[in-house]
Amino acid sequence: MSDTTYRRRLETAQSVLRERGIDQLLLGPSADLTYLTGIHAHVSERLNLLILPAEGEPSMVVPGLEAPLIHDGSGRVTLHAWGDADVPADLAASLIGDAKSIAVGNKLWASFLIRLQDRLTGVNWTEGDPVLRDLRMCKDAEEIAALDEAARLTDEAWMLFVQQSGTLAGLTELQALSKLISISEEVGLYKPSGIIGTGPNSASPHHGGNERVLQEGDALVFDWGGQIDGYYSDVTRSAHLGEPGEEYRKVYGIVNDANQATFEAVKPGVALQELDRAARNLITEAGYGEYFVHRVGHGLGLEIHEEPFLVEGNTLPLQVGMVFSDEPGIYMPGKFGVRIEDSVVCEAEGGRRLNLSTHELFILA
Ligand code: ZN
Ligand code: ZN
Repeated sequence: MSDTTYRRRLETAQSVLRERGIDQLLLGPSADLTYLTGIHAHVSERLNLLILPAEGEPSMVVPGLEAPLIHDGSGRVTLHAWGDADVPADLAASLIGDAKSIAVGNKLWASFLIRLQDRLTGVNWTEGDPVLRDLRMCKDAEEIAALDEAARLTDEAWMLFVQQSGTLAGLTELQALSKLISISEEVGLYKPSGIIGTGPNSASPHHGGNERVLQEGDALVFDWGGQIDGYYSDVTRSAHLGEPGEEYRKVYGIVNDANQATFEAVKPGVALQELDRAARNLITEAGYGEYFVHRVGHGLGLEIHEEPFLVEGNTLPLQVGMVFSDEPGIYMPGKFGVRIEDSVVCEAEGGRRLNLSTHELFILA
C-alpha cells in the first residue's frame, strides 16, 4: 500500500474520532494497527502502543530493541522507544496526557490497559472497534486485488491437490492436511494454514486435525487459506474417500445449493442477515436445518474472521466493497460433515466470486 493510502486512512480515522467525540484511539499490535499504519508489531509482554489523537500526529510507544523493525522512514508515526529498565506504561500515560475519552482496540492486552487505567483517571473508556469498522469493512481496489490473488492461488492449490494427492487412505489427518498446505506454499501463498476433519470428525466444524488415520468411506473437509500482501484467502472443499453413500451425495448437493442461494442474494442494500437466511431456509426446507450449526459467513481481509458477520440479527446493509465468506455446512454427528466455502465481493450489480475452483464432488482414493 502507498504512503498516500496510509495517510488517507489515518486522516479518515481521525475524522471518525472527532465525529464521535473521542480524544484518542489506542491500538496494540493488530490488524487495525497494520491497516492504519502499515506497521507489523510483535505481540509480546513488551508494550507496543499506537496513540492516535483526534487532532495532530500519531505516535507509538515501542520497545527499543524492536524499533528498527518498526521504523519505516515514512515519518507518518513518531516512535518513542523505551528500554528494558523503563516503565513503558509511564511513558504511554505521559503521551496520552489529559485525554478524557479514549477508545481502545480489542487486541490490546488487558494487562496493558489496566496499567494505563491505573495511571489515567476520569477517562471515559470505550471499545475501539467501531472507529475503524466502516473503513475496514469496505475494501478498496488495492485490497480487492490482493484478496483476488490469494483466492486464485488457493483455487490452484486445490486443483493440484486433487490431481496429485495420490493415495490418502492410510495417512493421518495431519499428514493429509500438510500435503495440501505444501502445495499451497508451492503455488505462492504466504504462510498457508488450515484445518481438516475426516470421517466422524468432519461433523465437527472446527476440528483441526489429529492422528486419526484416513480410510475408505471417509468424508473429508479441508478448510484452509494463506495470505497475499497480508490479505487472506479462506476456502473449504469437501471430498470423499471412495464412493459415498446416497445420503452424503444428497447432503453435498443441498450444501452446494445453499452456497449458490447465498451468493445469488448478494446485492448492495440487502441486510446481511438475509444472506444467512438464504442458505438456512434452503437447508431447513430440505430437512437439515438443525445440522447447520453456524452463521453462513464472515468478513475477510487482514484477518480471517472480521466484520461484517453474515448472521441472523445483523441488519447492516451490504455495501459495495464488502468481502466475505459464503460457507454453509451440514454436520451429521457421528457420521459426516459437508461444508463448501468461497469468498465473495459485493459489487454494484451483485456478488462476484473470488474463488472459481469447481464445487464438483471429488472421489479420492
Ligand atoms: Zn474457512
Ligand atoms: Zn471461513
